[in-house]
Amino acid sequence: MNTSKHIYIETFGCQMNERDSEIMAQLMEKEDFVPTEDIARADAIIVNTCSIREKAEQKAYSLLGSLRRQKQHNPDLLIAVTGCVAQQEGRKMIARMPHVDLVVGPQNIYKLPLLFNQAKKKDKGLIVTEQSSAFLIPPFLPSMDQGLPHKRFVTIMQGCNNFCTYCIVPYTRGREVSRAKSEIIREVSHLASCGVKEITLLGQNVNSYGNDQSKDERTSFPELIRIVAEIKGIERIRFTTSNPKDLSEELMRCFADIDNLCSHFHLPVQSGSNRILKKMNRKYTIEKYLDKVAKLREYSPEIALTTDIIVGFPGEDEEDFQATMNLVEHVRYHGAFSFKYSSRPPAKSCDFKETVSVEEKSRRLSILQDRQKEITLERHREYIGQVHELMIEGESKVDGQWCGRSRTNHTVNFESTMIFTPGQLVNVRIDEACYNSLRGSLI
Ligand code: SAM
Ligand code: SF4
Repeated sequence: MNTSKHIYIETFGCQMNERDSEIMAQLMEKEDFVPTEDIARADAIIVNTCSIREKAEQKAYSLLGSLRRQKQHNPDLLIAVTGCVAQQEGRKMIARMPHVDLVVGPQNIYKLPLLFNQAKKKDKGLIVTEQSSAFLIPPFLPSMDQGLPHKRFVTIMQGCNNFCTYCIVPYTRGREVSRAKSEIIREVSHLASCGVKEITLLGQNVNSYGNDQSKDERTSFPELIRIVAEIKGIERIRFTTSNPKDLSEELMRCFADIDNLCSHFHLPVQSGSNRILKKMNRKYTIEKYLDKVAKLREYSPEIALTTDIIVGFPGEDEEDFQATMNLVEHVRYHGAFSFKYSSRPPAKSCDFKETVSVEEKSRRLSILQDRQKEITLERHREYIGQVHELMIEGESKVDGQWCGRSRTNHTVNFESTMIFTPGQLVNVRIDEACYNSLRGSLI
């Protein structure tokens, strides 16, 4: 008789959260919990939350509210809240959502099976939000026959020390802790032997990898990339995210020297105005940022650049916003994620008086997004006629078409009657540019 229980995990937010959800699924599988896509059938539910903007937090609360009924019908159902909202809200979460059994901050998810057992025995919700200065996430060493996807995230550090004034991350994920190089190598080597072809090295500010380690054992991020690039079977390496202040020339050089490092750099700028960057505590000026962009393009002329931008930061006036628009025109990013500023206590900017109305934030955001959309299309058109190497992702939604990702991180669709496997490399000539993707023909 199959005695497995079912677990449903809902993930909000960034790649760090996606990776944390994978870790939790892996830990719970050892306890005989089988993942399900059907929340109604679940014996346990994990809501892995994000608090970076108010909207993300509201979404999590709305899902949790809707679970009240399911818990009433099935009192044995276990509901856990993890991630940044859990860390931030702690006890308040239980007061607001008394049907929640467990509230676990990001640094404690590795204890999840134990905590689930403890929570079962308690009438009231269990709260585990203490922070640690050690790297606690266990290595992911799946069995060879587990059927892994062709690409995986590998966490190389947790937390952040930068305290950009708008950002909640240093409060919810704690101080920077780099994972030991030997553990990263062990995990990547194991994944490669399981058939994984692409690795994305993950951290809030990967450029400062190693800064917290002692002098004798310190490995810089560029050194780490060079080591990982040598691991047999790894065809592609990516990383995210980077604060531009820590982007070194040594890292730029990696793009020129390392064949399997993909030509894409996500370099969040946040604003084009020096005045606002200073208020954001970003620790670079636009001039310095542009110097780095120019140098990066010298090392790797084909590199695709993407960014993050916040509009409506307290004190941002029309001139500051224009400076952001000028920057976007100047750099001509291949893509950008842009957001309306959202006040996130206890981040420092909550003490700054908000000067931009909700309507004005929306106006600025749509001007920015409309222009960026055009630039992205112009950038896509530049690829027409070029040959790009794609890593196959799978069949496209359209019949008879396949979908792959270029080294520059573009989605490319092409027609073929051949059968491909995810992770396989093929070459295509780009024929057509759309807003969100490219079309090509197999060569
Ligand atoms: N570590 C990255 C860096 O230094 O740029 C950023 C990671 S953060 C999780 C992702 C993005 O969310 C940021 O780049 C920023 O654009 C956006 N973000 C963070 N806090 C925000 C806030 N309070 N309001 C609006 N957007 C925010
Ligand atoms: Fe947040 Fe700044 Fe750290 Fe990025 S570098 S996670 S924006 S505090």
